[in-house]
Amino acid sequence: MAVLPIVRFEDEIVEIVERNTVIVIIGETGSGKSTQLSQILHRRGFTRSGAIAVTQPRRVAAVSVSRRVSQELGVHLGEEVGYAIRFEDRTSAKTCIKYLTDGVLLRESLSNPVLNQYSVIILDEAHERSLNTDILLGLMKRLIKMRSSNLKVLITSATLDGEKVSVFFSGCPVLNIPGTLFPVEKLYSTEHPKSYIESSLRTALDIHIREPPGDILIFMTGQDDIDKMVKKLEERIQNFEEGSCMDALVLPLHGSLPPEMQVRVFSPAPSNCRRIIVATNIAETSLTVDGVVYVIDPGYVKQRQYNPSTGMYSLDVVQISRVQADQRAGRAGRTRPGKCYRLYPSSIYQEEFLDATIPEIQRSSLAGTVLYLKSLDLPDIDILNFDFLDPPSRESLADALRQLYLIDAIGEDGMITNVGRTMSELPLEPSLSRTLIEANQLGCLSQALTVAAMLSAEITLRPVQSKDTKRKPQTNMLPDGSGWGDHIQLLQIYESWKCVDYDPDWCTEHNLQVRSMKFSRDVRKQLSQIMQKMAKGPIDAQSSANQRESQEYTTLRKALCRGYGNQLAERMLHHNGYRTLGIRSQLVQVHPSSVLEANEDGQLPDYVVYHELINTSRPFMRNVCAVDMAWVMPILKKLEKMDVNKLSGGFEPEKCEQPLQQPQAPIKEANERTTTGGSV
Ligand code: ADP
Repeated sequence: MAVLPIVRFEDEIVEIVERNTVIVIIGETGSGKSTQLSQILHRRGFTRSGAIAVTQPRRVAAVSVSRRVSQELGVHLGEEVGYAIRFEDRTSAKTCIKYLTDGVLLRESLSNPVLNQYSVIILDEAHERSLNTDILLGLMKRLIKMRSSNLKVLITSATLDGEKVSVFFSGCPVLNIPGTLFPVEKLYSTEHPKSYIESSLRTALDIHIREPPGDILIFMTGQDDIDKMVKKLEERIQNFEEGSCMDALVLPLHGSLPPEMQVRVFSPAPSNCRRIIVATNIAETSLTVDGVVYVIDPGYVKQRQYNPSTGMYSLDVVQISRVQADQRAGRAGRTRPGKCYRLYPSSIYQEEFLDATIPEIQRSSLAGTVLYLKSLDLPDIDILNFDFLDPPSRESLADALRQLYLIDAIGEDGMITNVGRTMSELPLEPSLSRTLIEANQLGCLSQALTVAAMLSAEITLRPVQSKDTKRKPQTNMLPDGSGWGDHIQLLQIYESWKCVDYDPDWCTEHNLQVRSMKFSRDVRKQLSQIMQKMAKGPIDAQSSANQRESQEYTTLRKALCRGYGNQLAERMLHHNGYRTLGIRSQLVQVHPSSVLEANEDGQLPDYVVYHELINTSRPFMRNVCAVDMAWVMPILKKLEKMDVNKLSGGFEPEKCEQPLQQPQAPIKEANERTTTGGSV
């Protein structure tokens, strides 16, 4: 194997780390930042006084890179080298190189604010500008003041503006690792294709037939498109006449691929076989796939954008930035000169693409982040003056404060409450942690834990279609939430699975992914362990007292109403649409995938809570549960009383500053848009 560029700079790296506390390291994707830096520092004695933490914005990268490093060092994963991602910890007392998501490091800093288990903290992939890495940058600034003599902080990036970070860290040194990138010829389309899937397919087949050996990497926007593309490619290639061209192996690559499938992209192609890798933007910088010579770049990415004035997420296919386009092209020139097929005109690249991607902090809901910062309780940290590399808009901060107030995490004066403090200990989004606390009070914690686990594991329900649903009872039908909605359905599904002793075949019969269901069971176990500390008795011994209560899931729905106090909606009088109850009311619909049922008069429940508002073809509430008016009223009273100026310590949030860059307009091709989105 060729020596990676970073390894050639070992002495320079060690010297600069010895002399400085914070260092920015810029190196091309694939130069070895993620896999080698930690090994170099370990080899050169930096783990004597603590472990090395390497953060990754993506779970899949933390797992994949740690696996690779453990192989390179010839040790078992989980021993000297391990990883920790939310709900999964594969480390031990022996671990001295630990890969973890940036979110997990933030959480660790809650229980150990000085993070003194680590001698080195590497914030990897900082160019991704994930929300959590941005918060960590601010926290590191504080931490080095407290531990300057025994902590080293390395910030690595493939593209980040090194100067900007250096200025942020009072002029820390920037080490540029020159890569060995071969020239990449960029070929532009004359116009935007009508369908980028069809156009990518044609281009890939064309390359496969005409061009010399070398793997092809195609960038798609998400799993659905990848699956379609893989299927189409396989069909077309199978129909080629035998011997007309070399063999081809089509491989998908995205974040939800099972580990055994992910590993396949790291194995070289069999001889006389071309690999065609169909990936999300995960292959842009997070995971380096070797052997790629041809890149097909349709110029799009799927991006979640949060609108703080409506509380609505949209998951849009938007144009990539110039930095992303260049990264994608770079993937073709790692081993020899390559070609990048840009399925858009060069004028679009020049005139329409933004310079860089908008940082996540400027397009996310900040409720969880603000609660986290408040729970740190540091006298010198005030949210409004927190040191952000790029600050979020004041409107976003005000929105977060309102949300937190409505679910009792902060008081009228904006100070964190005891409830808020307990919430911050749970690795869940605020609405779910608040639900668990309420459920504990009301005696339905066991059920609420199941719902939180099922939502966190992002269980996807794929209903089994039958032409004859009315007549034939379907043995493989899933429980239907008894009319109360999706949270109750998730609970019933899990309980049915439990009744068959967690039989994997039951999942398969019901079209549920065994892996996700097992994951939800794991998550539930972990959440139970955390909650057990505050529960009144053994959690799973709890049961509903009376028959009616258990059929109507009253206490659980009441707990959900409290937890989702900032995500309530009221049915419109004359039709089945809803309006959200909050500062700014929105007209929304129940998502078609919901199991919420209308009554005999054809009317949906008067009040519901929703897990998420998402704007696809229309504004929709996803994961909806019916609640009672009596539970909603106290929350509405609170809403009436709310004074945002007080909550925020008088910073006039209504005069909001705009984010540094305006969010991009989504691409308006209906067929390219999606109707799903993970929870925040
Ligand atoms: P960078 O962080 O600078 O982008 P990496 O350290 O991720 O670079 O990658 C360096 C090399 O290690 C690349 O050639 C890449 O293909 C290889 N590599 C990284 N992860 C794995 C893995 N899980 N399995 C096999 N090879 C890997």
